[in-house]
Order: sequence, then structure tokens, then C-alpha cells
Amino acid sequence: MVSRVIPVQPFDLIIFGGTGDLARRKILPALFRRYCAGQMEGEARVIGAARAEMSDAEYRSFAREAITEFGAYAACDAEHLDAFLTLLSYITLDARGDAGWATLAAALEGSARIRAFYFSVGPGLFGDLAARIEAHGLAAPGTRVVVEKPFGRDLASARSLNAALARHFDETQIYRIDHYLGKETVQNLMAIRFGNTLFEPLWNSQYVDHIQITVAEAGGVGSRGEYYDKSGAMRDMMQNHLMQLLCLTAMEPPAKYDPDAVRDEKLKVIRALDPGQPGDIVRGQYEAAGKGAGSQPGYLEEVGNPESTTESFVALKARIGNWRWAGTPFYLRTGKRLRARASEIAIVFKDAPHSIFGADAGQHRNILTIRLQPNEGIELGVTIKEPGPGGMRLVDVPLDMTFSEALGPEAEDVPDAYERLIMDVIRGDQTLFMRGDEVEAAWEWTDPIIEAWESAGTAPCAYATGSSGPDDALALIHRDGRRWREIRT
Ligand code: NAP
Repeated sequence: MVSRVIPVQPFDLIIFGGTGDLARRKILPALFRRYCAGQMEGEARVIGAARAEMSDAEYRSFAREAITEFGAYAACDAEHLDAFLTLLSYITLDARGDAGWATLAAALEGSARIRAFYFSVGPGLFGDLAARIEAHGLAAPGTRVVVEKPFGRDLASARSLNAALARHFDETQIYRIDHYLGKETVQNLMAIRFGNTLFEPLWNSQYVDHIQITVAEAGGVGSRGEYYDKSGAMRDMMQNHLMQLLCLTAMEPPAKYDPDAVRDEKLKVIRALDPGQPGDIVRGQYEAAGKGAGSQPGYLEEVGNPESTTESFVALKARIGNWRWAGTPFYLRTGKRLRARASEIAIVFKDAPHSIFGADAGQHRNILTIRLQPNEGIELGVTIKEPGPGGMRLVDVPLDMTFSEALGPEAEDVPDAYERLIMDVIRGDQTLFMRGDEVEAAWEWTDPIIEAWESAGTAPCAYATGSSGPDDALALIHRDGRRWREIRT
């Protein structure tokens, strides 16, 4: 099967923060890969902008190094890279001053291409950039702006960021990135649900016992310690990535695959969430591991703050108060220094109402697993008869939907989430981006939980590096007669 790459229209992409870590590790490699895939057809311009003095040639060599280090396809040779780099230029510019803006205006003057501004800078600069783009007449109605997470640290700051952008841009121009939504399997979740008649009739509390969403990391905070300690797992992961996965899993079928139809349904899920109950939420902090050469510091040591009560792990039980999900809990957990780097959504169906095979056959249930990383894919656990003689013994086996077998080797060349999302920006498709009201609703739900922790001032529970999280998180689900799925790659 041959994959279809539909080229996008010519565009000018201006990356504010074009010399930063995100541009280096994600944006520039993603653009290069789309160029190699034939999606840009050489009619694009990419302008990096930041305060550092740099010539075009220096920026190209910065991009060459970034692409070589973080993501060239082996199939893509040096010739592709040289051609791609000719699309790049650089402008020294200050988001908070006048420097560089006239040069940027001159570079863009008369261009009829699609225009997108990528705000790959801290959120403190969003308002400055938006105001200067307007002041220099750089935006037309079709101009897009892309903003990165974190989108606020609470409801008040998210509202003020939304207001700062809304002063200069219409909501249809604003693309708030949550890169989890750009993952192929996350989109497959929608395809599985709404492209088949098989699952949707069962997708409710009558047939689903519970749902688990896990985003586990094996690494610690590393060099992000200072930033992370002001944020924590609730703000950094739960409020955005896990909440978005919850919404896509739980939402009603939208009338059509259209940005606002999808986002309206996601918003209804967040609004239907019951308030988080203190007994249903567990926070954790990882401990140091090992001694000597192979030892790993604990969270407090790693962030350099012995008094920190910031959580590196959070697990919670969420209830959605609507007809579809009343009585079916959603268990969510995310954390660092866990057993493995593994993310998945597991839909755990109820037991058959009556076993005709008798008690000896044991208990069996179907589980639909959507694996986000590693090995993106979908697996359906089904119960079958164990082969061979010896009566009717049942066994659970995975019906593994390995896309490469069915769709050919191209299916293994799954584009990185940033590749997909940046091309969606150029295409003008907002479906996989968060709308302002969704972000605010998510903060509205998380704020009281964080405020309660902050006012109590209690320390999170300690957990061992390489474990599945604190014992209290295991108890959170055990007391409901259920257990977490194993965290494994
Ligand atoms: P970074 O490495 O600190 O880079 C910041 C960039 O902004 C640099 O290019 C910097 O260059 C530029 N900059 C700073 N002040 C400026 C000003 N006044 N005018 C113009 N340019 C300015 O940050 P980053 O890691 O790339 O992150 C960028 C944004 O993406 C942040 O909001 C971050 O939270 C978000 N994000 C990052 C990642 C990631 O993996 N890195 C992941 C998700 C989200 P100069 O200092 O030369 O101006």
C-alpha cells in the first residue's frame, strides 16, 4: 500500500524562539521530515527569530546540527538536507523591543503565502509577540499563531493568556499545541470508535467496567528540575495530556469530524467531571535509588529543594457525571522514575454476565488497549479456548492490530506528533488543537485540587524509583476491587 502525502500550500513559518530547545529538538527536525516526505514541495520559507545575533548561514548550520542529531530519516540523504536548509533564514529580533521587527516586516512584505507564527518562547512573551505582530501589520485574517504548553499555571493565568491573544487574534487563528493529540494512535482512537460499528454500542457504563489511562516515564526531572518544581505532575501532565486523552476516550460522537464539533464534545466531558475528591487523589515523590556509581538522586536532591512538596507522580479516580459514564470510573496516573516509559489507554470491559463454562474456567474480560508509547498500536484482548485436549479451558490472547502487517511497511513510518501538527497548522485544521474554553475548563477542574494541596502543605507520599508509584496509589484502585495494569514496555 502506498501512503498518500498531500502537499500543503506554500507557507511562511516564523519561529519565535527559533534557536531554543524546542525548535532544535522538535520543530526543525519535524519540518525536515515533512520536506523529505514531499509535503512541502520546496515552496516554504522558515524564518527563525530570537535575540541572539546570527547570520542565515549560522542558522542553517544550527539547523543542520539539530536535524542530524534529532531526527533525520536514514533514507533522507545529504542532498535533501542541503535543499531543505535553503528554505531557512534568520532574523535577530526582540519580542519585547523594536529590534528586528522592521526586518521581519520587510521579509514578509508582498508574500501571498499562508503565514504562521510559532511562539516557541515562554508564555510570558505571548502577549508581547501578539501585540507587535499586529502593530507591524504582519497579520491578516488567515494568519495563524501556534502556542506551546504550559498554557497557564492556573485558571487565572490561562484566562489572562487567552485574553492577551484574543486582543489581536480570533480563536480560529490560535493553535494551542498538546502534542499528545498529534500521536497517530490518539487519532486512531477516534477512528476505532467512530469508523466502526463494533465498539461504539459497547462504549458505555453498561459494558465498560472501568478505564485506565497511564502516562509513565522512567526518567526523572533531569535538567528541567527548576521549572518542574514550580509545576509538578498535576500541572505538567494531568491538566493537559491526560485530560485530553480522557476527553477523546469519553466524548460523545461528534456530528462530524470538524474542529469545533470535536472540541465541543471534549469540552462537555470536562464540564461533566465530578469535582475531584481528596480521597480519590494520591501524590507521590520519587526516592533516591542505589548506592555508588549507578545511584540515582531522589526528587528533592534532583530539584535542589529539600523542602519541596511538589509531586512527581499523581494518580486519581475521576467520575464523569453523565448518562454514558455514570458508574464507570476513570483511573488516571502519571509520574516520573516509574518502572518503564509506557503510555496507554485501557478500556476494561465487564465480565460476561454468566459463565456457561463453570467456575473452573476462571474470570476473563476483554481489554482494548491503545498504546501511545512505545510501539504505538492497538490491542484487543479476547478470550478463547486453550488449544488441545483437556476440556474447555479458557485463555486470554491479544488480537494485535499490527498496522505494518496490514498496511505495509509505510505504516511503520508514523510521523512524529509535531510533523502532523505543524502540517495541520498550515492546512488550517484546528481539530487536534485545544480551544481556549477547553483549557480554561481543565484548569477549573484542577485548580481546587492543587489549592487544597497547597493550603494543607503536606508532603507527597514517597515511592521507590522503578516502582509503579506509591502504595497509596495501589490502594486507590484496590479498594474498588480492581488493580492497575502492569507498567511495561
Ligand atoms: P528555550 O530553550 O529557553 O528557548 C527560548 C527561545 O526563546 C530561545 O530561542 C531564545 O533565544 C528566545 N527568546 C527568549 N527571549 C526572547 C525575546 N525577548 N525575544 C525573542 N526571542 C526570545 O525554551 P524551549 O525549551 O525551546 O521552550 C520554548 C517554549 O516551548 C516554552 O514555552 C516551553 O515551555 C515550551 N515547550 C518546550 C518543550 C521542549 O521540549 N523544549 C516541550 C514542550 C513545550 P534568545 O535568548 O537568543 O532570544
